Amino acid sequence: MSTYDVAVIGSGPGGYVAAIRCAQLGLKTAIIEKYATMGGTCLNVGCIPSKALLDSSHHYDDAIKHFEEHGIEIPGEIKINLEKMMARKASVVEQTTKGIEFLMSKNKIDTFQGVGSFKDKTHIHIAVAEGDDVEIEAKNTIIATGSKPASLPFINIDKERIITSTEALKLKEIPKHLIVIGGGVIGLELGQVYKRLGSEVTVVEYLDRIIPTMDGAQSKELTKVLKKAKVSINTSHKVSAVERKGDEVVVTATDKKDNEVEFTGDYVLVSVGRKAYTDGLNLEAAGLKTDDRGRVEVNEHLQTSVSNIYAIGDVVRGAMLAHKAEEEGVFVAETLAGQKPHIDYNLIPGVVYTWPEVASVGKTEEQLKEAGVAYKTGQFPMRALGRSRASGDIDGFVKILADKETDEVLGVHMVGARVADLIAEGVTAMEFRASAEDIAIMSHAHPTYAEAVKEAALAATEDRALHI
Ligand SMILES: Cc1cc2nc3c(=O)[nH]c(=O)nc-3n(C[C@H](O)[C@H](O)[C@H](O)COP(=O)(O)OP(=O)(O)OC[C@H]3O[C@@H](n4cnc5c(N)ncnc54)[C@H](O)[C@@H]3O)c2cc1C
Repeated sequence: MSTYDVAVIGSGPGGYVAAIRCAQLGLKTAIIEKYATMGGTCLNVGCIPSKALLDSSHHYDDAIKHFEEHGIEIPGEIKINLEKMMARKASVVEQTTKGIEFLMSKNKIDTFQGVGSFKDKTHIHIAVAEGDDVEIEAKNTIIATGSKPASLPFINIDKERIITSTEALKLKEIPKHLIVIGGGVIGLELGQVYKRLGSEVTVVEYLDRIIPTMDGAQSKELTKVLKKAKVSINTSHKVSAVERKGDEVVVTATDKKDNEVEFTGDYVLVSVGRKAYTDGLNLEAAGLKTDDRGRVEVNEHLQTSVSNIYAIGDVVRGAMLAHKAEEEGVFVAETLAGQKPHIDYNLIPGVVYTWPEVASVGKTEEQLKEAGVAYKTGQFPMRALGRSRASGDIDGFVKILADKETDEVLGVHMVGARVADLIAEGVTAMEFRASAEDIAIMSHAHPTYAEAVKEAALAATEDRALHI
């Protein structure tokens, strides 16, 4: 039986990054993945394929709506070849997952394809997909088994017309009318993909705003933009039934006045969140239990109640984000190597890859109000930037929240072109505990979207934005 310093169960961004860092630190490492390809949800049915479709559909949207204003004329009709678009997405996924296989072998990490389950706290049984089962001994184990789409108890996901994000990423036809249950990140991103491709899109959200965990100003701006693009947004609607009638689906909901409302479409995307996934792990054999939400419980060191077993990523508490899982993977590897790593969960950015993009780090205005923190706000609209006018991306803003007394940046919230990349400036500033004035006095290249960050910082510092 092979013995390892560390066995990692699950090869998503949490697991594969943990394995690489363990190997870099000289630990003999194995990784176990039940699917045929590496990379977990993120690479196979999450971040990467959704961004590939967002990019393809964005090109199409530009071609039919914006090329003309740029003086680009395409003779004949511009058409979508969905099969080709999906094939491109599949090839992007394939290249990316193959890249992880390469990284595993480069770092001399033993890879097992099969379902890993605990025999006891130091032995893992691997039900190998093809071939004989294997058992390995692991001094330490990192559980990185991720999550699966959540649903509502009364919804029967038939994977044909009533679907999750996994099916929405590989539809064979463009829905005539896609009803999206849940106005969170995944629902809005995929909703925008199909809206651009020609579907009618209706979003039904239980809470009183879309992207409810982000700053209220961002919800408002994104709602405005989506409504302008004729996405129907129905907030404060509680879905009570989803019924399939042949090729039709009917979603019943009650609005805030308690009226029953029906939405009829041909596809329903259920995107009401994700739940931790531990099926088949046989946690009991290792002496582990899950909490009331099915997550593996961990302490501040991401260590479970069994001292040699750790858990990271979507399977534990916290934001379900690939980069959060990655940070946790590195954290556990370094802990196992005797180092003292640190993660500041307040500085894990959140991004929605709609267009305009939405990105945040730190505290929202709502959180500061609730905590009774005295703060000041600086906000700058994208439309006042030369760069935005040049590209035509004038929606959005940058909003900086800073401590009223000390001027320390407490939160950065953005809507606009490429803000998914721009939010790194907010993270860097906050990591170094910058004041709004620190950002305001730094030179930002002209013309860039980043100038909005400087201007918002100027506005927060002394209400002295220059270009508005
Ligand atoms: C449509 C969509 C879009 C998303 N977009 C983004 C985005 O843009 N940015 C972002 O940060 N996040 C995004 N996410 C979320 C992101 O995918 C997850 O947060 C991330 O994948 C979590 O990583 P993880 O390593 O914890 O688990 P996962 O990526 O879920 O990987 C877990 C792996 O463990 C394997 N596994 C489970 N049980 C076993 C077992 N017993 N034995 C062996 N293997 C097992 C699974 O097969 C899987 O491969 C998106 C998610 C979805 C669904």
